[in-house]
Amino acid sequence: MYGGWMGKILRINLSSRKYREEKLSEELIRNYIGGRGFAVKILWSELKPKINPLSPENKVILATGPLSGTFSPSSGKLVVATKSPLTKGYGDGNIGGHISSSIKMCGYDAIIIEGKSNKPVYLYITPNSVEFKNADHIWGKGAIETDHILRKDHGNSIGTLVIGPGGENLVKYAVVITEYGRAGGRPGIGCVFGSKKLKAIVTEGWLDIPVVNLEKLINITRKAVDFLKKQSNYDKWVSQGTMAAIEWSQENAVLPTYNFQENVFEKYREIGGETMSKLYKIIRKACFSCPMPCGNIVRDKKYKIWSELDYENVAMFGPNLGIDNMDEISRLNYMADEYGIDAISLGNVIGFVIEAFKKGYIDETMTNGLKLKFGDPDIVFELMKMVTYRKGIGDLMAEGTRTMAEKLGGDTYKFAMNVKGLEITAYDSHSAPGMALAYGTSPIGAHHKDAWFIAWELKIGRDVVSREKVEKLVLMQRIRGGLFEILTVCR
Ligand code: SF4
Repeated sequence: MYGGWMGKILRINLSSRKYREEKLSEELIRNYIGGRGFAVKILWSELKPKINPLSPENKVILATGPLSGTFSPSSGKLVVATKSPLTKGYGDGNIGGHISSSIKMCGYDAIIIEGKSNKPVYLYITPNSVEFKNADHIWGKGAIETDHILRKDHGNSIGTLVIGPGGENLVKYAVVITEYGRAGGRPGIGCVFGSKKLKAIVTEGWLDIPVVNLEKLINITRKAVDFLKKQSNYDKWVSQGTMAAIEWSQENAVLPTYNFQENVFEKYREIGGETMSKLYKIIRKACFSCPMPCGNIVRDKKYKIWSELDYENVAMFGPNLGIDNMDEISRLNYMADEYGIDAISLGNVIGFVIEAFKKGYIDETMTNGLKLKFGDPDIVFELMKMVTYRKGIGDLMAEGTRTMAEKLGGDTYKFAMNVKGLEITAYDSHSAPGMALAYGTSPIGAHHKDAWFIAWELKIGRDVVSREKVEKLVLMQRIRGGLFEILTVCR
């Protein structure tokens, strides 16, 4: 076997409660390398066409990359993939923390989960065994609370993937959560977990990762870390992480505001990276082997809740819903993680219903008497609960903006902000046509992890329309959605 690989895939069947180890084939390594490459190939080969994503026939793939578990910089990502219940096509996400390295240290390069359990279950995976554990005591609990319980039972050296009530109730954009606030799998990976009655995966590994030339790896890693730390914006990155993009998006008029109706937000300073780092941040957090920790753990002043903030979530619960208060945004962000629902899609869905209410497509009989308006965090919280437990209009909201627009009809499709059913991430592209094209051609729908073209576009000019611009866009999609996702390293 090559260095970097453990040489095994773990296949787990939840219906039969059996598992087996399979050899990682040379063909898979040479042609597909890892991460998204493995996931696409396995799903393409094994799923029958037209299956229902929430049926036992669907599978979930957890795929590491060749650098996972080594100390290569920022190599702690895991690709989680499935047939998406939201878009009905291939859907994946990547998730950080320590789960990817932990799977590798259990001896596996990828895990395939198939079938469906007849009662709530969680998996406990070590190099020695796979245990199917009763999850009755954690079913119904929040993802963050569940993570605490699992760590109490199994210790702190575990990797986790957990769903909240959103996944259990089959919210189509439910995610998996790790380490109290890192989310992944926007196209509904948490929903597919829920359909399989799979509450969590816990891994505890201790095996060494084979490396062909350790000395060379150490030298290259040292050089890479030195290079990163010398970058002029390194200090800002570790103090604000992606939150610095609030100010950047405001300056460049791409900050989604009032359901993408506007692209600047008057009170952006109150919720920006500067304010967050000076007044709210208490700890920095990093994924496995990352020298540029971007995790912003904050403690808000009103509710005293610890929450992990990043740009996308703050933009979608802040300006996009007209909310200018960091305490409230922090609480909403925490609850989205606890419910195990993608904050980006949720911010879109709530923005959509508020706009639909204002335009007369929805009335108070459909909202349990709520008068929907932008800028009210309590209304947003009520809607969030309705989505999570599929109450009232929350049942329709749980299907995503594309389905909502199909059901409500009229002109609602014009403000249902999605591509291929996946809600648009937090860059308004009305005045950035290259970014709009990148969203439109991204394979899984509107996701910045594949489509983040906007910084380059603003540098060369948003009004430029040229072959060179399109070629650059295709190249960047190949690098971001191809290379990075296959190597499972952070951008
Ligand atoms: S930059 Fe942030 S998300 Fe990326 S690996 Fe480092 S800590 Fe994780």
